[in-house]
Amino acid sequence: MLDCGFGIRETERRLAKVGVTPGDLAGILVTHEHKDHVGGVFKFARRYRIPVWLSFGTYQAVQGECDSVACHICRDGESIRIGNLQLTPYTVPHDAREPVQYVATDGHMRLGVLTDAGQSTPHLVAALGGCDALVLECNHDRQMLANSTYPPSLRQRIGGAYGHLSNDTSAEILANVDKSRLKIVIGAHLSQQNNTPELALAALTDALDTSQVRVMVACQEEGFGWIDLATGE
Ligand SMILES: [Zn+2]
Ligand SMILES: [Zn+2]
Repeated sequence: MLDCGFGIRETERRLAKVGVTPGDLAGILVTHEHKDHVGGVFKFARRYRIPVWLSFGTYQAVQGECDSVACHICRDGESIRIGNLQLTPYTVPHDAREPVQYVATDGHMRLGVLTDAGQSTPHLVAALGGCDALVLECNHDRQMLANSTYPPSLRQRIGGAYGHLSNDTSAEILANVDKSRLKIVIGAHLSQQNNTPELALAALTDALDTSQVRVMVACQEEGFGWIDLATGE
């Protein structure tokens, strides 16, 4: 499991929806200490004795919360093996202590995840190259954010270099990554105030010069079911 911002009950409910029980989980990978990512991790990990992987900076930020949870430190570029999956953390620009995102592979298929980054970097573009599927943050539409009722300081934080990815920046990242194997792109981490699924979908679709890649958007309420990366279905 990658991050967990929900309480125990809601996490159990969402796992059950895709036919998974907590006992099936071999580990939880944490990206950074913001509540929407780590808020539920340690309670869940403690309850079900699931080991957790996180960067040293993230570990320092959550130290009070992880008593009696097996925590493993991970770092940029050093792969972790959990079961038959190899997971590689990579550093991203975001306003947390030591934020990372992950690329996962079973040796055949490769999934790249990127949320919570304020800008594109050569490092993240390289890390996400050659994936079969990408989950890409489409946090906000720049115009909607500029016109939103959020206070100026919050607008600046979200739109800043260590904030969140706009549809445009995500599209730029998608345009720049190696897409030779790419079959699926999923827009994620959409703001309910400052974005719409239609705008995110349009931006990602425009960045692709092919209709061979399936583009979809994850919504917070429903999420999505299993997707077979080999077939794209
Ligand atoms: Zn977040
Ligand atoms: Zn964050």
